[in-house]
Amino acid sequence: MVNQSCDQDGRETTVTLLNLVRFGRASTRAELARHSGLGRAVVAHRLSYLVDLGLVSEGDLARSTGGRAPRSVSFRADAGYLLAAEFGATSLAAAVSDLAGDLLVQHEEPFDIGEGPEAALSRLTELFNDLVKRTEVSRASLWGIGVGVPGPVEFSTARPISPPIMPGWHAYPIRDYLCERFGLPVWVDNDVNIMALGELRGGLARDEGNMIYLKIGTGIGAGIICEGKLYRGTKGCAGDVGHVATLEGSDVVCRCGNRGCLEAVAGGAALARDAKWAAERGESPRLAAVLAEGREMTAEEVSKAAQHGDPVSVELILRSGRLVGEVLATIVSFFNPALILVGGGVAAAGDMLLKAIRESVYHRSLPLATRELQISFSPLGDEAGLRGAAAMVTDELFAPDKVARWVPKGSPAGMPELTT
Ligand SMILES: [Zn+2]
Repeated sequence: MVNQSCDQDGRETTVTLLNLVRFGRASTRAELARHSGLGRAVVAHRLSYLVDLGLVSEGDLARSTGGRAPRSVSFRADAGYLLAAEFGATSLAAAVSDLAGDLLVQHEEPFDIGEGPEAALSRLTELFNDLVKRTEVSRASLWGIGVGVPGPVEFSTARPISPPIMPGWHAYPIRDYLCERFGLPVWVDNDVNIMALGELRGGLARDEGNMIYLKIGTGIGAGIICEGKLYRGTKGCAGDVGHVATLEGSDVVCRCGNRGCLEAVAGGAALARDAKWAAERGESPRLAAVLAEGREMTAEEVSKAAQHGDPVSVELILRSGRLVGEVLATIVSFFNPALILVGGGVAAAGDMLLKAIRESVYHRSLPLATRELQISFSPLGDEAGLRGAAAMVTDELFAPDKVARWVPKGSPAGMPELTT
């Protein structure tokens, strides 16, 4: 059975069927045959193979519409478990998830990414160990690790490349560090990419073919879902729109060294900087009070002040939305997405920000491109990154070439070499 199903054609059709079940698009043999275009006999053969592997179960009789009732087919999300983590500029979140990306336990704490890779990964190792202990998951049933970091990552090597806000992380072998401690395959990607993937699998973007996830946090970045798949580009940095030049702000030097980058004029750090200037110049009593009380000026303070009607803060949020919208309009013209999801800390500014983004996008895009375009906040919020980190791992483990390598051993546990 294993050999028969492990030729290339067999692998691909098996994975096609697995994905139809895994993503909830088919729940009976008849639906599998209809969606895959495969004959009933082939479906039955591949399905029994997936049942033998423990990845799919054929359960109760589904509701019949007449004739013999079909058995329901479902994905065994508990066949294995994953470790997922997401580093932000100032936070660390970690979780144990099942193979469907549902989080069994999760934890988030403040962490400064500037402390460097050794401190960060040592803390992450502790967290993973603690989280596993809090579940009934055995070490042997852990299948892989997914990690998101706030900077560009060369996906094939899992190494950050000159990440602007991650001092000490350039080319650091994150995969090797975690492989040594857990003996599992490890994948690492940019945080925005995994958030986009999380939304694709579990959020508003479920089944959305062409989608942009825009994170406006300290910095700005976009994750691209193209024809139902995460698009990483040649080296893994597609969607790095934070450093696209804007028409305004040519006097502002970005942390990348260029002038007038989008995130240098519209990101969270830019909002905080401009709010601080305004407070110091006496233009906003409300913002001045933040400084007078000894608090640090942040984008969150600007959002709060804007929601209370502070004119300077409102103007800053509207400007941020307008500039972000101008860059998004270019993306809309180029890519024609059906959905743009906005997430990240600055998204907390709420409807005021979203309205400014929408106006800017609609004003500058062709009518056909915006006719069915939806622009919304990310519904998964903080969970998008962790769910996406888990989805990145399952996508890799269930790729046809990888399936062929681990299936003869029963599971990918203890096979860190699957990343190559
Ligand atoms: Zn820049």
